[in-house]
Amino acid sequence: MATVTSGTPALARHQRTPAQLLETIRDLGGVTRADLSRLTGLSRSAVAHAVAALLADGLISEREPGGSHPGRRGRPAALLMPSRPAGHVVGIDFGHAHVGAAVADTAGEVLAERRLTADVDHHADEVLDESARLAHDLLGQAGVPLSEVLAIAAGIPGPLDPQTRALRPPAILAAWAGRDAGHELATRFGRPVEVANDADLGALGELHFGAARGRRDFVYVKVSHGIGAGLVLDGRIYRGAAGVAGEIGHTSLPDATEWCRCGNRGCLETVVSLAPLQRRLARIGIPMTADGPGGPMTRLPENTLAARVLTEAGRILGRTLADLCNCLNPEAVILGGEIGTSGPPLVAGVRESIDRYAQPAAAEAVQVSAAGLGARSELMGAIALATGQVAGLR
Ligand SMILES: [Zn+2]
Repeated sequence: MATVTSGTPALARHQRTPAQLLETIRDLGGVTRADLSRLTGLSRSAVAHAVAALLADGLISEREPGGSHPGRRGRPAALLMPSRPAGHVVGIDFGHAHVGAAVADTAGEVLAERRLTADVDHHADEVLDESARLAHDLLGQAGVPLSEVLAIAAGIPGPLDPQTRALRPPAILAAWAGRDAGHELATRFGRPVEVANDADLGALGELHFGAARGRRDFVYVKVSHGIGAGLVLDGRIYRGAAGVAGEIGHTSLPDATEWCRCGNRGCLETVVSLAPLQRRLARIGIPMTADGPGGPMTRLPENTLAARVLTEAGRILGRTLADLCNCLNPEAVILGGEIGTSGPPLVAGVRESIDRYAQPAAAEAVQVSAAGLGARSELMGAIALATGQVAGLR
């Protein structure tokens, strides 16, 4: 056997076996054979051979991809998914002004889904009750008894204490600070509920079902009432020592002076989030309401003045993301939330600043796009967390 220096790609190639491909498929959810070849350095024929063995053993299954698949031409390739036990999962997504829920099978195929407007910030107990009612309604609609639900996961817009699972400041849900939403949901469902940060779930949703399929290093940025990033490094969510990794909304901007809800002045989200953008648009005679993607925000780019405001917002956001690209060297920056998915002008502004301020190699390596799942990234991330739990993966 040839002597190989530790850490060389050659060693990685020689060590890859079907078991290791299975691990990659379990980590990343839906991947194509081409993704596996690119990620592992194995030839297409070696991947095809190992995949055929995994399929024959029933360890993975194959299905047609749903949703958009930006940047790829032709008929989309089949996705390889880890095999999971029969049953169902529930995902819940809390935003500042909405609560959404979905029922899916253990492969993440959604059977029923709904999103309601709700004052989540100020009415924690009512909204927790509402989410449980919504989930029960959807289970009824899908014909799935609660006894067949194998896992439930929920996303909350704020950083979670990794030990206590309580919400930490600067959670957007001021009335929720210190609460253990997982415990409160568990008492309503009579079973454990896994809770995670919403931007982390947005990243997970895009990783398994959206624009980040087959990627290992990317940043998902939820730009909505606040700004938070979900960091995926080497195929895993990175939460940091205290669970606050990715709180880029509180990056200080040199020229901004407005007070932020976190107690500092001049934070990024005092300039680029929903409320300040609404104010700026109102000033140039463009009234809008915050009813999210599919609502007025998506039509705004058709207005030249509005497009200019959003491009400038993208440039300001992109300045912070350029620094993040220098730190982490991601292969993609995916923009989610009402503003992140507002259309090409915002994406163009972010792209411009990354090209201008990031190191050329970091800028060249990164693709900037809107979320492939639109407003559903966080909810689908909750589904991915729940299905991952069922397979005992996370
Ligand atoms: Zn702040």
